[in-house]
Amino acid sequence: METILLDDSEADLLKAAEIIKNGGIVGIPTETVYGLGADASDPDAVEKIFTAKGRPADNPLIVHLADFSDAEKYTSAIPELAKKIADKFCPGPLTIVLPKNDRIPSITSGGLDTVGIRIPSHKTMHRIIELSGCPIAAPSANTSGLPSPTSAEHVMDDMSGKINAVVDGGQSEFGVESTVIAIENETSVRILRPGCITREMLLELCDDVIIDPAILHDLEAGQTAASPGMKYKHYSPSADVIMVEGSIEEFTAYVEKFNAPCVCSLIYDEDEEYFPYRYMTYGSSSSEQAHWLFQRLRELDELGVKKVFVRAPSLDGVGLAVYNRLIRAAGFEVIRL
Ligand code: AMP
Ligand code: MG
Repeated sequence: METILLDDSEADLLKAAEIIKNGGIVGIPTETVYGLGADASDPDAVEKIFTAKGRPADNPLIVHLADFSDAEKYTSAIPELAKKIADKFCPGPLTIVLPKNDRIPSITSGGLDTVGIRIPSHKTMHRIIELSGCPIAAPSANTSGLPSPTSAEHVMDDMSGKINAVVDGGQSEFGVESTVIAIENETSVRILRPGCITREMLLELCDDVIIDPAILHDLEAGQTAASPGMKYKHYSPSADVIMVEGSIEEFTAYVEKFNAPCVCSLIYDEDEEYFPYRYMTYGSSSSEQAHWLFQRLRELDELGVKKVFVRAPSLDGVGLAVYNRLIRAAGFEVIRL
């Protein structure tokens, strides 16, 4: 199939919406990363997403709506706490897991009886939802297992020939996928996947915000994941990624032993002046690191690098999201100095 490149003019957004209404799939910019969108209520359309990505069938898709008030159409109950949180953080990079109703087919929810609902703030994605009139199922628009796409070019690299179109909306703002939460009880939530809506932000509305153990640790044999996506190796470039925790002095001394032309380090902006070996930087603050991480992982592959040592991010705020993606890209290989 030929994959057409669209821009974010109203005429092209109408074309994208038409494709989705007719059961096709389209790469769409959002404020987090690029999504691969299809009509969430159409099992045949949703199946095309799983095929194009090579995504395991038990990994559920997030359903994107124009307004949180539309969530009633696709869910069987919305707890008060979910409404309160949505009031504050929707539209935005937050997904709330709620009990689904029959309008969401089982293929969309990966066989679960819940559905993750997100209201994107990106005007292009928002407009496509409005024009199509469909709830839009949209996972990240990468081949399953690879780093998520933060530009239309990344989507083309992975999906050209496999999907109907890509809408170019420039570089993604946040750079990591949405925060996914489940409502734990009347006053607390559980973070299933960290993102740019942080634990600290959610604590303003909740008595407790639990960090699901799968965010920082590999699942043990027999354990089931509250968020099925967490059990897969993910976000990985072809290069071997190793995360290294420690000061820049410790990091430099460690990496020295492995110094070779095919080795590259991913360090903070401010480390640059101290680091004598081959490197790329991925920002200074956690938000900058989230913005650049996936782009850098793709660039390292383009350079043909074989081994990447990454200076581990902080665990605070948005740093938890960056750490969570990196520990999976590294297949849980962490060196603690
Ligand atoms: P992606 O579609 O690539 O952004 O990944 C979606 C993530 O959200 C995966 O880690 C899923 O496991 C998680 N997710 C989506 N829907 C649900 C749900 N109903 N319950 C738990 N986790 C979910
Ligand atoms: Mg993904």
